[in-house]
Amino acid sequence: MGKPGLEQCVLNAIYEASPDGIMVVDEQGIIVSHNRRFIEMANTPRALLRGPDPGSAIGQAGAPILAAVLENVLDKPAFLARINLLNEHPELDDCSEHQFQDGRTIERHTTALRCPDGRLVGRVWFLRDITEQLQSAESIRNLSLYDRLTGLPNRRLLLERLNQAFNASARSGHGGAVLLIDLDNFKDINNSAGHAIGDLMLQRAAERLLSCVSPADTVAHLAADEFVVMLVDLKADATGAATQAQIAGDRIIAALAQPYFIAGQEYRCTSSIGAAVFTDHTYLAEELLMRADIAMSQAKKAGRNSLRFFNPKMQEVINTRTSLDADLHRALLNHEFCLYFQVQVDSTNRALGAEALIRWQHPERGMMAPAAFIAAAEDSGMILPIGQWVLETACAQLKAWERDSHTRELSLAVNVSGTQFRQADFVAQVNAAVTRHGIKPSRLKLELTESMLVGDIEEAIVIISALKQTGVRFALDDFGTGYSSLQYLMRLPIDQLKIDQSFVRDLVASKNARAIVRTIIAMARSLDLEVIAEGVETDTEKQLLLGKGCGLFQGYLFGRPVPLRQFEAELKNIWHYEPQRSWVD
Ligand code: C2E
Ligand code: CA
Ligand code: CA
Repeated sequence: MGKPGLEQCVLNAIYEASPDGIMVVDEQGIIVSHNRRFIEMANTPRALLRGPDPGSAIGQAGAPILAAVLENVLDKPAFLARINLLNEHPELDDCSEHQFQDGRTIERHTTALRCPDGRLVGRVWFLRDITEQLQSAESIRNLSLYDRLTGLPNRRLLLERLNQAFNASARSGHGGAVLLIDLDNFKDINNSAGHAIGDLMLQRAAERLLSCVSPADTVAHLAADEFVVMLVDLKADATGAATQAQIAGDRIIAALAQPYFIAGQEYRCTSSIGAAVFTDHTYLAEELLMRADIAMSQAKKAGRNSLRFFNPKMQEVINTRTSLDADLHRALLNHEFCLYFQVQVDSTNRALGAEALIRWQHPERGMMAPAAFIAAAEDSGMILPIGQWVLETACAQLKAWERDSHTRELSLAVNVSGTQFRQADFVAQVNAAVTRHGIKPSRLKLELTESMLVGDIEEAIVIISALKQTGVRFALDDFGTGYSSLQYLMRLPIDQLKIDQSFVRDLVASKNARAIVRTIIAMARSLDLEVIAEGVETDTEKQLLLGKGCGLFQGYLFGRPVPLRQFEAELKNIWHYEPQRSWVD
């Protein structure tokens, strides 16, 4: 055997033993050769591959790898065009990666095949399984970013995520917060029960933390007994974000304070939390963690098992809010809420009904307007029992009015909050109240705002329609300040639009406000809706509104919100309230 023969044998051996799958096509794109590894990777019988029509191999064997490699072979013109392109640009590698459903990733390279004289005779494709390579790169990254004991992100990844969160917050306007959580007496347990128990406890604590937050939030493990929770998508204003952070923090403190049962023993470990809020890129990530750390030390000093905010002002706001939450619970039991009534009149100043506006007779703070507590009640969920109380009280009032010929025809508008409206059994609650008090449903008017409807308009339509069937009426409150699209308005089965007081206030001074009011009235007319203006304070405003076609009013000009007795007295004395003949008998 001469030298070239040996060379040939060596080349053949390398070709067959190569860890890469190799496939050779001639200049017409017909497969002329492939090695063993290629067959393995393509998972296709050798006999099916060769020849001018390798597409049939895919049909029969269904091997996805082959399909990926031959994507161009199957589409003959495209494949030839590609070969021509590669021939013209021999430097092109045509490298690509393919991921398969079975988890493998295959890298594909190609190179021109030339005779010793330089003539192009075909192409060679190389397939390399890079799955393991990618996996080990991934696990190296994971090792450097995740804590081994708990599997949670470590400090480095937390800092990365914080920076991403700052950017996202600057874009979306949402706030966020970091809660630095320290397990109060973990070191004692670790020392007395041993590190194995300590490790198990940390793993359980990690699970509990994960269960307390939503998937978009991050739970990180910084040091032995130190965790950080990064909350995102909080309210835009710092106070709102802090309130939400406090709620999440309370949940975490309660979850971590639960006993741990490990190896037949019960262990208890409370936690202290330091919180710092962010609403954009104001701080560096490290700085924010430092703030949370300072707040955490204060929580420890304050007696552990508690949460403190870095910002003392914020702490104050939160303290007020927390005591407000506790007070709200008590207020319902102690009958501290009452309804004020503000008259609604027609163009002749005749009273048609009223809007019920809640007031809180607080034992220390005195009479409180809804602006001071409705938001807190929304956040804590107390708005549900409060809303229910308003509805019951309003229905009871309507019944009482129905019994008196002087007030029989009055209607009563009740404000409904978003949370209340979206309850699964809202329709049933309203119907039950109407039935329980035996009132005429059309006397009850529920006031909704646009902002509470836009989330899921289809659902809103279903709820409103269901209640309309029984005769309850609906008004769209604060109209003009929200979404106000005609298209969406057309689909809502409501009865009345309530022009927001901000437009009424500007009527005299602003041409714009006049144009908006004119448009709202035209809109209402075309949709056959009633329109009422609120916040009417002067006769000039009333006349302007009247001139534009709005004939229903509410505002200080006619009467402020007043307690029931005063309302009923003024009804007789001021609002020319003359029951029509038909009402009396
Ligand atoms: P709203 O539904 O827009 O109620 C109208 C507010 O404007 C009332 O404030 C009323 O006192 C005030 N107002 C009425 N006429 C005039 C006027 O001529 N000029 C001016 N400057 N203001 C006028 P109030 O009673 O403080 O209520 C504030 C908000 O609290 C209400 O706004 C409503 O959104 C909410 N609210 C009131 N009662 C309830 C309730 O029972 N449940 C719920 N969920 N929210 C309520
Ligand atoms: Ca209202
Ligand atoms: Ca309003």
